[in-house]
Amino acid sequence: MTVIADLLQRNRTHAAGHPGRASSLVPSLQTVLITCCDHRADPAHVLGLRLDEAVVIRNEGGRVTPDVLRTLTTLATVAMVENLALDVEIIVMHHTDCGTSRLAAPEHTALAARIFGIAEDELAAKHLTDPVAAVQADLELLRSAPSIPAGLRLTGLVYDVATGAVTQV
Ligand SMILES: [Zn+2]
Repeated sequence: MTVIADLLQRNRTHAAGHPGRASSLVPSLQTVLITCCDHRADPAHVLGLRLDEAVVIRNEGGRVTPDVLRTLTTLATVAMVENLALDVEIIVMHHTDCGTSRLAAPEHTALAARIFGIAEDELAAKHLTDPVAAVQADLELLRSAPSIPAGLRLTGLVYDVATGAVTQV
């Protein structure tokens, strides 16, 4: 069986159990999770997140980049258009052994700086090889971003890919 045939078969099982109507635009846990696209850190498994529970934004490292800030602004605008309350918690979850730690090498400085939209000499502040410090830096970025409404709850997590355990930062 090809990968796509296998995935479509799994979808038929999913569709068979679907209630047959779309649920609210607001995730039931009122949560936005920013995390890495790494296949070992899928929040549906790591945090047991179920369908409809959270908006999940994934990129390389789960980092708060200009693109992520733009996405959050878009979500806030959609909520405003739909007259929905903006009472959400934002969780930033990074993980150990992240592929982005490999970008800390000097030959990848230009690429890494471009991802974050910063100058190359500001890259040290992104803590590419330290997930705890990286989460703290990204929470601070969210706290100080003018496009993020004040008063949103912000939480940082680090997932250990070697043990499966998540710790709060
Ligand atoms: Zn990663």
